Amino acid sequence: MVVNETLKREREDPHSRAVKIKERALALGFHKVGIARAEPLPDERARLEEWLRRGLHATMHWMARDIERRTDPRQLLPAARSVIAVALNYYTPHVHADDPTQGKISRYAWGDDYHLVIEEKLRTLLSWMQSEWPGTQGKICVDAQPAMDKAWAVRAGLGWIGKHSNLITREYGSWVFLGELILDLELEPDAPFAEDHCGTCTLCLEACPTGAIVEPRVVDAGRCISYATIELRAEEIPDEVARNLDGWLFGCDVCQDVCPWNRFEQPTDEEHFAPRSGQTSLPLAEVIEMDHETYAERFRHSAIKRAKLSGLKRTARALLAGDRDSPER
Ligand code: SF4
Repeated sequence: MVVNETLKREREDPHSRAVKIKERALALGFHKVGIARAEPLPDERARLEEWLRRGLHATMHWMARDIERRTDPRQLLPAARSVIAVALNYYTPHVHADDPTQGKISRYAWGDDYHLVIEEKLRTLLSWMQSEWPGTQGKICVDAQPAMDKAWAVRAGLGWIGKHSNLITREYGSWVFLGELILDLELEPDAPFAEDHCGTCTLCLEACPTGAIVEPRVVDAGRCISYATIELRAEEIPDEVARNLDGWLFGCDVCQDVCPWNRFEQPTDEEHFAPRSGQTSLPLAEVIEMDHETYAERFRHSAIKRAKLSGLKRTARALLAGDRDSPER
């Protein structure tokens, strides 16, 4: 039986199988899907090692672990032959608050946690494949697994990496979440996205409030507002970042907001990404006073939990202190 199933899988045409999978992925709500060969990523590995060598990962020590697994899909699925890369548009036509009593939240965290949304869709896709081609093995990757999302998206032809280091698609700009499904199926790969459509533009480098984009496609996490407000576990935000928080309580969208490619943004049809309670920011005084019970209830299944309540309070304090010290207010 197992032998027959394996033979059936091997006999199928990799092209028609790829077409079927893409149709299914789009029907599940993904906005873009592409396929790459499951190969090691030597160039990406060299760039990652150089970034780590320069200490630009700040306190994100986990980035230095699992380099082998990050850069070789066969370390995640030994029989890997193909990687399906998917993108989900998360843009909604709301704007950030312009009120110093509010802390701005990055767009990606306005709605439900994208990890859960993408994982569920990829799980459904994998189950469907396993019914079509019994015996198929797959490994789902959504950020938490050590896979290089952006590198796979480029290899699968979804877009290019902008100078702000986010993936940009022609159709949706950079407001996309990424995920992968590593498979032991042979599939016809797409052509990698070879062009760089940033050209001579440097708007994101100039706009970054803390100068964190130290050169095209190289971000110094230690200076990045997103890192400071989400990942940094220190008691206080370093002065040079705290002075330039620009109203951000969780994450930062400045480099994407200024990007001309985001004029192609279009509202998503994925309802999970609509701002919870219509909120794109949180009152700072409310954050300072928030207890654990309220926090857990309010941010259940939200990416905001990554910062923890202590992190939100710390950033709220820094924003309020900055507002007090600002001569303009
Ligand atoms: S702002 Fe300009 S340089 Fe930066 S990612 Fe967008 S197009 Fe590229």
